[in-house]
Amino acid sequence: MNTFVKSLSVMIATVFISALLSSTVNAVDSEATQLLKNRTAEFDKEIIKVSSSVYTAVGYAVSPVSMIVGDDGVVIVDTGLDIEQGKAIRIDFRRIVDKPVKAIIFTHGHPDHTHGASAFMDSPDVQVWAREGFGHEQNTLERAGILIQKRRGGAQAGFSLTPEQRINNGVAKAFWPNRKGGIWGADQNIAPTELVSSERKKVSVAGIDLELVAANGETQDGLYVWLPEERVVFAGDNFYKSWPNLYAIRGTPYRDIRAWANVIDDILNEGAVALVGGHTRPIIGENEVTETLGNYRDAIRFLFDKTVEGINKGLSPNQLVEYVVLPDKYRDLDYLKPYYGNPEWAVRAIFSGYLGWFDGNATNLFPLTDKQEAERFAKVAGGVDGLLELATKATRDRDFQWSAQLSDYVLSLQPNNAKAMINKADALTGLADEIPTATARNYYLSSAIALRKRAEDANDIKP
Ligand SMILES: [Zn+2]
Repeated sequence: MNTFVKSLSVMIATVFISALLSSTVNAVDSEATQLLKNRTAEFDKEIIKVSSSVYTAVGYAVSPVSMIVGDDGVVIVDTGLDIEQGKAIRIDFRRIVDKPVKAIIFTHGHPDHTHGASAFMDSPDVQVWAREGFGHEQNTLERAGILIQKRRGGAQAGFSLTPEQRINNGVAKAFWPNRKGGIWGADQNIAPTELVSSERKKVSVAGIDLELVAANGETQDGLYVWLPEERVVFAGDNFYKSWPNLYAIRGTPYRDIRAWANVIDDILNEGAVALVGGHTRPIIGENEVTETLGNYRDAIRFLFDKTVEGINKGLSPNQLVEYVVLPDKYRDLDYLKPYYGNPEWAVRAIFSGYLGWFDGNATNLFPLTDKQEAERFAKVAGGVDGLLELATKATRDRDFQWSAQLSDYVLSLQPNNAKAMINKADALTGLADEIPTATARNYYLSSAIALRKRAEDANDIKP
């Protein structure tokens, strides 16, 4: 085939595939997609006056950035991910009060709360407070040489998606990395100058009395900030309006879910009248704060206790996710909907966090490898073609999970099978449309994009 005819046939194939794909994509938003879209108002750009001396900038950066105004300076709690976004916040904070930053407090070591710090370094004397063990989560993996979490994190965030596909990230506006170097720059990360090693550390800066309280939940380097005079609490990522990310699909060490619920209880017991979360807009009003934190704590505890109950009955992770069902009183609350974390992932995390990979079923002590299982399945299905036929039928029937699994069998046997890649991409796109959990949606769609690209390349190789 000459080059022109070949590229023409690739073009026709691409058009045909695109037409096929668009027929499987809904023109009207699904309920899940609509739910996620409705969230976008949560991320409107605004500086919210939380109490007489606390201002929180939301919608400027991935995490909210707060300013506490003191006598001769201000304290900043969390700094967002990006220096340019941080600078915009710094300018708008100065419009409210033009006092120098005396201290920055990091609620934990995640980049989306720390990497914007240099925008708030008004002088080299700025104190930077964090918990001892700062950066624990990333360091644990990197010390072991594990790096895949970065790629998985990119898929979870949906960096390869278009704005239309990505919607938002569930607890924040969708931002993309600035490839010119303004973002994600480790060299721009400001290291803590003061580390909190006690359970509760009283700090006085710029005439502001603060308490930094150890809070092992999402991470083991977490703290929450308590401003007793105005009864404002800054919870970091142990609270935001969404089902919490008790397990992150990018891959992290076990997040202590029991401890997380206890931290929520500690925060609740402070008696706050305003709650600034690690993401989403602050909650203001004593009753609302108390009710929200109470439900948040109880929902996490319910899930944990029910999972342990199931584990002790001998259930496997795949059985536990059927067994553990959150009561409607929690599921109906908007701030417990799975926009970012997902209860099912938490159930699995509790199992593997305590018991490891073995599900307790003797059959699974030495399971068949993917390829061995696929070979046997192919025989049942009448060969690879039979498997592929079942897979494409499952997509047509909107049985997307089964379709993806069947496609995986084909790809285990024929890794360059473009039809299986396209079918799997379609199935993942269908799954993305059915789930309001932004991290899952982004991961599905990112994987679908990669598969379509691979399918194009595979088509290109063939004569
Ligand atoms: Zn965060």
